[in-house]
Amino acid sequence: MPKIGQETKIKQPYNQHGGEGKSVMQRYFIWTIGCQMNKAESQQITGYLGSVGHQAATSFSDADLVILNTCVVRQSAENKVLGTLGLLKGLKNKHPNLQILVTGCLVDSDTQELKRRFPQVDLLFKPGDYHELIAWSERRGVSIEQEASLSTISSPCAFTPIIQGCDNFCSYCIVPYRRGKEVSRPLGEIVCEVEELVRRGIKEVTLLGQNVDSYGHDLPEHPDLADLLNELSSIDDLARIRFLTNHPKDISMKLIDTLASLNKVCEHLELPVQAGDDDILRAMRRGYTVERYRELVHTIRRKIPQISLSTDIIVGFPGETEEQFEHSLSLLKEMRFDVIHVAAYSPRPGTIAWREYQDNIPSEVKRERLHKIEELQAAIASEINSQFQGREVEVLVEGRKRGKWFGRTRSNKLVFFEDAGDWLGQLAIIKIEKTSPWSLRGEVKK
Ligand code: SF4
Repeated sequence: MPKIGQETKIKQPYNQHGGEGKSVMQRYFIWTIGCQMNKAESQQITGYLGSVGHQAATSFSDADLVILNTCVVRQSAENKVLGTLGLLKGLKNKHPNLQILVTGCLVDSDTQELKRRFPQVDLLFKPGDYHELIAWSERRGVSIEQEASLSTISSPCAFTPIIQGCDNFCSYCIVPYRRGKEVSRPLGEIVCEVEELVRRGIKEVTLLGQNVDSYGHDLPEHPDLADLLNELSSIDDLARIRFLTNHPKDISMKLIDTLASLNKVCEHLELPVQAGDDDILRAMRRGYTVERYRELVHTIRRKIPQISLSTDIIVGFPGETEEQFEHSLSLLKEMRFDVIHVAAYSPRPGTIAWREYQDNIPSEVKRERLHKIEELQAAIASEINSQFQGREVEVLVEGRKRGKWFGRTRSNKLVFFEDAGDWLGQLAIIKIEKTSPWSLRGEVKK
């Protein structure tokens, strides 16, 4: 299967308007929602389209080819996908030549049913199944060769998927049904890809998987994530390595020790807790208790004092009482995470929770609980970030937004600064002058 940045060469450019032999470039627009894995896969698709001469459009209406990279992990995300498909239906009625491709977690195995529901869509392909995309392109007269190339690098940071799918079946989660069983990429293949990325200017790589702690169990030599980090650390000119997402029941001491010892691996972990109550965790089928999670965090903080921790939490899981919600709130107060991603539970058809539990927490209650956590976290993040005031931090500069340079610290804090120089891809030392719960601001020292 072709991977990110593999070289793709056009043999015979196609002309969507039917002019035989004329080389007509298409303008494409990729719409992406959802997790980092989706963003990584959109990056790959961008690579393919760019390498056959297509150019990025700025909006749907400006494009001949639209790719929706979808997420249905929550009802709110699914609603956005359905709304966008409706909008594109109208656009296609006006412009019948518009090609619409859909990938991501909306695409299940019953593509016939999806095709019936969304006749405006020209191609549905499962997440990461680029064979389908390439075959579709082939049918339209464009032959894509699959040799290594990274054609569209515009940032010093890249995502590299290392494992697809998930074997866990948490009761609320649709991902294992849509992305299938865990499949790891061979270690050597990942190392080659990252070496190629670095040759092309990438300074930071983020290794992705629904559960990176499962990496390698299905490979012949059973390498694990720690082994992979050790290999990648020896790549000259690669400045930083990150990975996500970890699972509290699977993260190993070997990985924590590796994170503590390797300089290039950034001090940041995504460790989703999902609930602060043992009964709810059991109903979620998470495989750990609150006490086990607490001990894990203490161990990580003892071994890596400068670690920054992010977590995910779900409010309003079926049957969650006020008291159980308070348990979650007090765990969050105690743990003091740097970042919390909070979501209200929404039943996903086909999942265990959807089959076995009634979605019996009213939406106003879910909203209230969500706001309580957001408020609490704003106060905690504000206090944590205020400790950066006056300190100098190293920032890898990723780009410019509204006249300011921005980038991230090793601990994943977003930092803005103003300067006339060209800082893209540079490691800058920034003295922090202003802090907020969401970002830091400062001035360049060097
Ligand atoms: S670990 Fe659980 S929440 Fe994460 S992708 Fe797998 S099933 Fe979903």
